[in-house]
Amino acid sequence: MAENLLQKVVAESGQPIDLCYQCRKCSVGCPMVEEFDFPPNMVMRMVQLGMKDELLKSKAIWMCISCETCGSRCPNEIRIAPVMDSLRAQCLEEGIAPADPVTVALHSAFIESIKTFGRVHEATMLMNYKWKSKNFTSDLDVGIKLFLKGKIPLMPKKSENMAKIKEIFQEAGK
Ligand code: SF4
Ligand code: SF4
Repeated sequence: MAENLLQKVVAESGQPIDLCYQCRKCSVGCPMVEEFDFPPNMVMRMVQLGMKDELLKSKAIWMCISCETCGSRCPNEIRIAPVMDSLRAQCLEEGIAPADPVTVALHSAFIESIKTFGRVHEATMLMNYKWKSKNFTSDLDVGIKLFLKGKIPLMPKKSENMAKIKEIFQEAGK
């Protein structure tokens, strides 16, 4: 089990996870570490040890914002963002309930907007996100202010290159 998880994540992320020696430079620089249940260096150790159940149920994998700060600080040039991507994908593939469903709802609404319009259309993306998250009232005041300033156009405008967008999604099997 330990070998399987490590091998799968290394293959999917392309990162030399076995080189991690727990210097913690990633965790010290991570802007999201306070939201994580396991700091980035611990996530790396857990992958090395094959702690799949704990990782796929963790909040850490959903709180990473892929800022790449850890990768720029790591003495072994390990980028943790692709590691988190692999763990997130495994969580969804295996039908495990995500520890942070609201973040998953936002990711999903974002991707569906890109798939439909080739770019983000904020109004429909936000409605989709609210529906998926059942979080109808949060940020309503900010949303109304932005709408009144014309920052959230009602009518979507599709990308001129929808064929390419379709091709990208097909290649990704989505
Ligand atoms: S900075 Fe790199 S080597 Fe150090 S703990 Fe993080 S991933 Fe491991
Ligand atoms: S990529 Fe993720 S783990 Fe790395 S510093 Fe940014 S938020 Fe933290």
